[in-house]
Amino acid sequence: MTTAASECDYLVLGGGSGGLASARRASALYGAKSICIENKRLGGTCVNVGCVPKKVTWNAAAIAETLHDAKAYGFTIPGQPTFDWNYFKQKRDAYVKRLNGIYAANLANDKVQHIQGTAKMLSSTEVEVALADGGAQIIKAKKILIATGGRPVFPNVPGVELGISSDGFFDLETQPKKVAVVGAGYIAVEMSGMFHALGTETHMFIRYDTFLRAFDPMIQEKIVAEYEKQGIHLHKQSAVTKVEDMGNGFKKVYYHDKDGEGTVEVDCLLWAIGRTPEVENLGLENAGVKVNAKNHVMVDKYQNTNVENVYSIGDCSDSGFELTPVAIAAGRKLSERVFGGKADSHLDYENIPSVVFAHPEVGAIGLTEPEARKKYGDDLKIYKTGFTEMFWAMMDPEQKGPTAYKVICAGPEEKVVGLHILGRGSSEVLQGFGVAIKMGATKKDLDNCVAIHPTSAEELVTLK
Ligand code: FAD
Ligand code: NDP
Repeated sequence: MTTAASECDYLVLGGGSGGLASARRASALYGAKSICIENKRLGGTCVNVGCVPKKVTWNAAAIAETLHDAKAYGFTIPGQPTFDWNYFKQKRDAYVKRLNGIYAANLANDKVQHIQGTAKMLSSTEVEVALADGGAQIIKAKKILIATGGRPVFPNVPGVELGISSDGFFDLETQPKKVAVVGAGYIAVEMSGMFHALGTETHMFIRYDTFLRAFDPMIQEKIVAEYEKQGIHLHKQSAVTKVEDMGNGFKKVYYHDKDGEGTVEVDCLLWAIGRTPEVENLGLENAGVKVNAKNHVMVDKYQNTNVENVYSIGDCSDSGFELTPVAIAAGRKLSERVFGGKADSHLDYENIPSVVFAHPEVGAIGLTEPEARKKYGDDLKIYKTGFTEMFWAMMDPEQKGPTAYKVICAGPEEKVVGLHILGRGSSEVLQGFGVAIKMGATKKDLDNCVAIHPTSAEELVTLK
């Protein structure tokens, strides 16, 4: 049954990182009557199947590494430490559930109405919500935000359904003994690293010779070498061609790589080959909203779509960044512009820092060296260092991990246009340097900051 239409100032489609932030800002700060429609769990990808459960799992993997390293510092750990994946998973699930509740409470506190259902645009001012009880509701809105995020993509390979995506990673009840991870981006690198650190035999299938190919060549080279050194089986120049069910929870993965054809039998196959916007059934055509060739909603720098009073942010938009803080910042800036009278409020997409929670972590802001060469030609100065940080001083040579930093400076004033770091603690190191670079830091500014000793990050202010 379709209930009578309700009306609002701001209708947000999708209760993920971006949608929630934008709706709350519009309502709490500017008094806009706001409604947020979510068809799964509040918090979206980040909270339920992304950053949050990922980082908690990464923490578990980091503890496993510390237990391993502890011996070199004189600790005796009786027996072989074991990891109870299911115990950990249940606690992680409970944490996520708590967050779902907190997100609901935050919406209520900020007077945003939350409707559980699936949204479909009927026009640029009307949305139909299919409710869980089979009913439907029509909502008329002065302004609509499309913030429906994305979902994992799967390849066109026979037996593809025998594999899971990153969503399925968080459903695993027990720890796989042997895993094949296909893909070469953030998710493949993070999940392979976590599996390996926790003791799963890990095979990675990548199409070229390196992974994280959007990162600076120094990062690619060092992290690939480190993963191989740690014992991750890296199948370079490979493609998975077929997957067969072996009947005992194991699957046979057929592939070819630079050494020829092969198979590997695993109890978990993870596809991590990218994500696609969640917009197909959203009725965009009813509203006349344009998407690009990859189905991302096209927006200008103010997050305007081609249709008046319809906006889009986050993973479903063509902003070019699929990161939680980007979706949040874009959503808040948008509400400040549309409801807060700040006419020029918009997110500046330049110099956005990001981190891959690899082993060790990798961070980057600004241009890679090839990008900088393309933009500035030879008017560049590159500062680089690679060293063994003090943590590893207690270890045998084969146990030591890498640290590598690169700062790319342009012009006579040596403005920092790129910073690339790899090593323990990089995710925490990068944030502060991000502030400096966003403010326009030059090499001289870095040098003028007194080092904090003994740290790894001090190398970034003493580069020669
Ligand atoms: P989402 O958070 O995906 O929210 C969209 C919401 O819309 C979803 O809840 C969905 O259910 C809902 N929806 C979709 N269609 C409809 C509809 N028709 N009706 C109603 N509701 C609908 N980013 C980081 O910054 N750091 C990290 O460490 C990090 N780790 C990640 C790890 C993984 C495994 C993944 C997959 C992603 C990770 N990300 C990370 C990326 C980050 O999660 C996303 O960039 C972010 O969640 C995007 O926010 P969003 O609001 O655009 O979309
Ligand atoms: P990405 O776009 O980062 O990487 C996917 C990669 O997989 C591609 O770049 C490609 O690399 C490879 N690939 C594509 N198709 C195939 C194929 N058919 N077979 C094998 N490999 C293939 O996607 P992810 O899914 O890893 O992550 C999505 C986004 O989520 C990220 O871009 C990031 O913005 C966000 N995220 C952020 C995190 C963080 O902030 N720490 C963590 C996780 C996700 P190549 O061309 O080299 O083969």
